[in-house]
Amino acid sequence: MNALNGYEYISENIKRILYDIGEAEAACGREQGSVRLMAVTKTVAPEAVNAAIGCGVTLLGENRVQEYLEKKDRYLPTAEVQFIGHLQTNKVKYIVGEVSLIHSVDSVKLGAEIDRLAAKKGIVQDILAEVNIGGEISKSGIAPDELAELLEQLSEMKNIRLKGLMTIPPPGSSEHSFEAMQRIFEDVKRRYSQADILSMGMSADYSLAVKYGSGLVRVGSGIFGARKYI
Ligand SMILES: *Cc1c(COP(=O)(O)O)cnc(C)c1O
Repeated sequence: MNALNGYEYISENIKRILYDIGEAEAACGREQGSVRLMAVTKTVAPEAVNAAIGCGVTLLGENRVQEYLEKKDRYLPTAEVQFIGHLQTNKVKYIVGEVSLIHSVDSVKLGAEIDRLAAKKGIVQDILAEVNIGGEISKSGIAPDELAELLEQLSEMKNIRLKGLMTIPPPGSSEHSFEAMQRIFEDVKRRYSQADILSMGMSADYSLAVKYGSGLVRVGSGIFGARKYI
């Protein structure tokens, strides 16, 4: 029996996306395979997520704490899981030490809570700082002109490790947003040598993100099809 039964489209989508990423890497002289593909699992059935893992996906992105807790035991254990959604401080306890990277730290308060619970567990939690590059009021993420101050405070916390930056450019944003984010990231990397991950790019713009230095693209609907709810 075909393990992909009914999920052949997932295999086709992943092949196409990996091809596109390879083309984008080649187009700007980046090493083949240097960009990591994350499958974003929100609203997706665990069976479909496992089909993606069967097609070679090694990284899953979780948005919602509750949904993650309900689904995690049904995922194949071989994939790495990272948290990419907005995280409330009262939910940090479900996530710290459970995921390899938290992409969405945008305040000292959230960083401090992650640090406190990581210390309690005797671990160091890897994090990214989320930047609101489009300056959208409704979006999470720290404003670019407040980033340096946030990073300074986060870097003093002993049980978190700043691994880089994450951003969600506004839908249909021009290349300027991506370029601006790349500049900010390069600057941060110079200051914090371990901060080598730029998490940028989704289904609609991953090729553009690769052009501007993304090392990790987060793709949901491009792999699994359109979501029924947001
Ligand atoms: C949903 C989501 C994605 C993936 O979005 P698609 O457009 O479906 O690829 C990526 N990053 C974050 C933070 C998300 O919430």
